[in-house]
Amino acid sequence: MKILVLNSGSSSQKCRLYQVAPGAPLDPPPALWRAEIEWGLAQEPASLRIENSRGERIEERIDATTRAAAVERMLRGLWEGAAPAVRAPSEIQAVGHRIVHGGAEFRAPARIDARVLQAIAHHAEIAPLHNRAEIEGVRLVEKHLGSVPQVAVFDTAFHRTLPRSAAVYPGPYAWLDEGIERYGFHGINHRYCAERAARMLGKTPAEFRVITCHLGNGCSLAAVSGGHSVDTTMGFTPLEGLMMGTRSGSVDPGILIHLARKHRYTPDDLDRILNRESGLLGLSGVSSDLREVLAAARQGHSRAGLAFDVFLHRLRAGIGWMLASLGGLDALVFTAGIGENSPDVRAGACEPFAFLGLRLDPAKNADPAGDADVAAGDSSVRVLVIRAQEDWAIARECRQLLDSAQGKPPGRE
Ligand code: AMP
Repeated sequence: MKILVLNSGSSSQKCRLYQVAPGAPLDPPPALWRAEIEWGLAQEPASLRIENSRGERIEERIDATTRAAAVERMLRGLWEGAAPAVRAPSEIQAVGHRIVHGGAEFRAPARIDARVLQAIAHHAEIAPLHNRAEIEGVRLVEKHLGSVPQVAVFDTAFHRTLPRSAAVYPGPYAWLDEGIERYGFHGINHRYCAERAARMLGKTPAEFRVITCHLGNGCSLAAVSGGHSVDTTMGFTPLEGLMMGTRSGSVDPGILIHLARKHRYTPDDLDRILNRESGLLGLSGVSSDLREVLAAARQGHSRAGLAFDVFLHRLRAGIGWMLASLGGLDALVFTAGIGENSPDVRAGACEPFAFLGLRLDPAKNADPAGDADVAAGDSSVRVLVIRAQEDWAIARECRQLLDSAQGKPPGRE
């Protein structure tokens, strides 16, 4: 089955086409087609890159006036232009969408219909940037691919197993009636990494306790026990928890009250400051990209050094929090841009846990080859680097749902 995956992030729109067999393995096959739009800054054109499995490529600037027009241009590249993957849109048999916020009702992927779309729109109130772009993606697929089955795979679903003590905020009880509770995010990749880690170490998920550290532009941790998420650092929105590229992560809510009173900040001001002007960028004044922050810190830029120190401090504190929720640990996983590529972050994160017998192998940590165990041979906890494979995970979940909906046991065509 040819499954197209749409994954819209805050700064980019990714799209992949996979051939997905029933009971598809965790390891991703090469995509049949991949495309990515990077949204330019205000007034700048977006850039589009497309590549198919024959190595044919397109790289162009798109002067599209709207986001939708750019995504339409990308979708048409599937069957038109210099790097197509199919002869006609009808060859695509299903479409999986990453949906950031599924609220309380979605514990698993869902076939998209009017009711599901309405629920996604409802949660756009909490995750406006993401959910609105995702709904637009569903509409554009309808327009260009007709009545192809579309599946929503939620970033929140994996965390619906959080115990109430971890999910409920200690605010007024009435918050619960308003749906104000901890949902957690990045669940598609946390789940994938927890399963992959168990597989790499020859364990069954049932007997496995793992902390997955998703460290990219957005950062979150998950504590996974017996294959279920039991705690996570993001909460009601993807703003809680760790320090991130441009997001503050958790800060004393009293600061917001103080700023609102003193400067008369509006909700939009606070949104901008906490989501776009904080984190690595806000503290360092250099960049939201950790590579640039680290390079500046090495040259003696004191704010960049401070930003890295705070990032690491918050990460270590988060790992300690997840550790307490698990009550023990078999593996610590690092994934996403920073987790996969920064030996400094991995070493810094592991250092305070040496007293537990958790130790890295410095040579392996400096240069992990693909998905790898970078712990020392005698470490009490395995430390793994696992490449994020969100798009493949979405394609697999999509196929599983469609197979089960048709009453087919997994593993049969
Ligand atoms: P992601 O959101 O997973 O694409 O991660 C993007 C982030 O990964 C970038 O903003 C960088 O901060 C970070 N990153 C990528 N490569 C490296 C690297 N070699 N060292 C440190 N950070 C990196």
